[in-house]
Amino acid sequence: MNRPFVIPFHEGRLKMKDLLGGKGANLGEMTRAGLPVPPGFTITTAACLEYFEAGRILTEERKREIAMALSGLEQEAGKKLGDPRDPLLVSVRSGSVISMPGMMDTVLNLGLNDETVEGLAGLTDDPRFAYDCYRRFIQMFGDVVLGMAPYRFEETIEVRKEERGATSDTELSAEDWKWVIERFKEEVERETGNPFPQDPVDQLHRAVLAVFDSWHNQRARIYRKVHKISDGLGTAVNVQMMVFGNAGDDSGTGVAFTRNPSTGEKALYGEYLINAQGEDVVAGIRTPEPIAALASRMPGIYEQFRSICRRLENHYRDMQDIEFTVERGKLYILQTRSGKRTAHAAVKVAVDLVNEEIIDRETALTRVDPEQLDQILHRRIDPEAELDVLAKGLPASPGAASGRVVFDADIAERLSHEGQKVILIRPETTPEDIHGIVAARGVVTSRGGMTSHAAVVARGMGKPCICGCGEMEINLKQKEFRVAETVIREGDEISIDGGTGHVISGSVPLIDPELSEEFQLLLKWADEYRRLAVRTNADNPADAAKAREFGAEGIGLCRTEHMFMEADRVPLVQAMILAETVEERQKALEKLLPLQKEDFRGIFRTMDDLPVTVRLLDPPLHEFLPDMEELLTEWTRLSMNPDADPQELREKEQLLRKVRSLHEMNPMLGHRGCRLGLIHPEIYVMQLKALFQAAAEAMAEGVTVEPEIMIPLVGHVNELKEMRKLVDEVASEVQEESGRAIPYTVGTMIEVPRAALTADEIASVADFFSFGTNDLTQTTFGYSRDDAEGKFLHHYIDHKVLPENPFVTLDTDGVGKLVSMGVELGRKSKSGLKTGICGEHGGEKQSIRFCHQTGLDYVSCSPFRIPLARLAAAQAAV
Ligand code: ADP
Ligand code: MG
Ligand code: MG
Repeated sequence: MNRPFVIPFHEGRLKMKDLLGGKGANLGEMTRAGLPVPPGFTITTAACLEYFEAGRILTEERKREIAMALSGLEQEAGKKLGDPRDPLLVSVRSGSVISMPGMMDTVLNLGLNDETVEGLAGLTDDPRFAYDCYRRFIQMFGDVVLGMAPYRFEETIEVRKEERGATSDTELSAEDWKWVIERFKEEVERETGNPFPQDPVDQLHRAVLAVFDSWHNQRARIYRKVHKISDGLGTAVNVQMMVFGNAGDDSGTGVAFTRNPSTGEKALYGEYLINAQGEDVVAGIRTPEPIAALASRMPGIYEQFRSICRRLENHYRDMQDIEFTVERGKLYILQTRSGKRTAHAAVKVAVDLVNEEIIDRETALTRVDPEQLDQILHRRIDPEAELDVLAKGLPASPGAASGRVVFDADIAERLSHEGQKVILIRPETTPEDIHGIVAARGVVTSRGGMTSHAAVVARGMGKPCICGCGEMEINLKQKEFRVAETVIREGDEISIDGGTGHVISGSVPLIDPELSEEFQLLLKWADEYRRLAVRTNADNPADAAKAREFGAEGIGLCRTEHMFMEADRVPLVQAMILAETVEERQKALEKLLPLQKEDFRGIFRTMDDLPVTVRLLDPPLHEFLPDMEELLTEWTRLSMNPDADPQELREKEQLLRKVRSLHEMNPMLGHRGCRLGLIHPEIYVMQLKALFQAAAEAMAEGVTVEPEIMIPLVGHVNELKEMRKLVDEVASEVQEESGRAIPYTVGTMIEVPRAALTADEIASVADFFSFGTNDLTQTTFGYSRDDAEGKFLHHYIDHKVLPENPFVTLDTDGVGKLVSMGVELGRKSKSGLKTGICGEHGGEKQSIRFCHQTGLDYVSCSPFRIPLARLAAAQAAV
């Protein structure tokens, strides 16, 4: 393969982006389209990779190629590098394949030395300009190539400004800059032991290498890590003739977006500065003017720029981010790229471009990153507000909330019933805190990661959540937390931003999510393209309603245990568990039945006409009982108190015995799922009665029901056979009583490897499979999720032992193989078998793509991720 190392702009084109980098490819493309781009050439990524491979050496061969390209550039420019009368100056600009704004280095005004600066000065009426360029060059070369600290140079300029009583750089004269340049050169010599390099070709080589090297600087590395960009791509280097925005008041420089990157509104959005160069606009030394002001300042240029913006948008068929410079009344375009934008803007721009007939619907669907939609679907902090940030944790669930601090789930629930807004703060949360999370506006934990219990639950509810906020020292006894010197007590008001991880003192102004017309439209287009159905995980009518509003086409997972966790039911559930005989248990169950029936009825009503998959009780029973250690402490306290009520003591003892007997070494693999149903069928019978009676009653109201009964944790076909028998028995009993034929199906979760391996056998008694990929990931890897995330998983991901957190992104090679095997085997023995996924992966875009490719019928995810899933499913299909 012959990959060229140096290519002039006029031979470059967009297609060659891998070789030329984004900036170089676009400069080539614009040059060929006849736009006013200063001439230049690109040293390709191939040259960069070769340089690193050779141990950071630029070969003689490459130097010759650069020399040839340079002489071509000199001909185009009509000037020569180093010519003492009329020198060519160039910029040396980085440009990687995937844009990494501001992460790598650039050197401007290269080619200046003690001699050429005089030549440049002689060309204009105002020699100040030439000295301004030279001092800028020494500054940038010093920083980028010689590795000197930028503040050294800034200090010298400040000294001179003070002496002159000047507030702005532009007030300094040619003489001032000459003085500054002498100091700069002394500084360079002192620091590096050598005089400032005077040979322009030597300057060029060194700058090119420094830009190559900047590929590996700290911030570029971090940026790549965050954005999952490969370290092996390398950067191209663009050498381009300088044009001068600092040549006087008829010159200037600026940056503009063709549309507003924060709202998507179709209007030029940007800033410019008169008599300025390069970085001045973003450096904040002078306040730039809004681009609209250019219309009156330089009307001709403004019109020309606008028409170029339109051309570029049409050419690239996307919103552009454009750098320009005006030199003595002539406009030059220095860069264009597709502009980074918020989710709001992404949606609006995509839809507007379709309406303007610039792109088609399919393309529009690919223009919005599903992950970004989180930003749209949550209340957020007014971006204009000033914030007093106390601490920062992991941004685990986006959105913002304010409320009073509480440290206990029960108190959270009580206060919220009284109408107060609360934020729940815990070292970590467990399923027992669920009611507190329900009651709270948001959750903060000092331990745990982005996939910890609190995070998962909060995201499911669309509630803001911050996890692993280690700066926060929580004292549960004192009911306070401390961050450095600040102490926040129960009842104090704080705010949290789950999108940034900021914990903020006091309240903040919030703005509501807007489901804009454009957003609805885009999702409608997504529905036309996707093949996967999108369902929701919902345990109550409110969540189900929310999900329907977002476009859910059924419930893929209704977890019945959450219905047991409401505060007023816990005593009933505990009585049921503590029962010593089947009769006693039966009594407790009878009290639970009407409550559970009401839950189901509400869900059926809300999901009228849509399928509802109900999973029978899954967690081990001890999850509904108090913590053993806590109990033990209480019992010890009681038993040492001579005045204690003997009855109470006996009850505590009994409870303790039961908790002990239910204690498991490894609850994840313990007595749960269908293993519960097999040993204590009366629990499942109660749930099934409630379910079928609710279905019959809803039908009587005119609701169309489609219940799908799901048996959890099946590993052997016989387990499902038994459970199916139980379901059919209860169903026929209720059908007889009610006189209604209830259309129901029975299926299973596939969440242990054996179920996937024997899916053909299991499918013979199942109507549907739902891949429970949370448990399937645990059981396939043999990781207990709660232990893995706190102890070793982060290390694994940081050190690339695993490419990604398998609890977030489905491990397609391993767990995914079991899923495809399960689908294939299952369909072989039952052709119409319905298949879906209900793990958290059902709401993650890469995993959704996998589900599409594997031929699943649906994905199921939490209500707030439904729009994301609709879009991701469409992207997988186009
Ligand atoms: P970044 O990728 O960090 O934006 P650039 O290579 O785009 O770095 O350079 C930064 C700035 O330098 C540009 O915004 C532009 O204003 C200025 N610049 C670069 N090349 C030239 C040039 N040939 N003439 C004038 N200004 C230039
Ligand atoms: Mg740039
Ligand atoms: Mg499970």
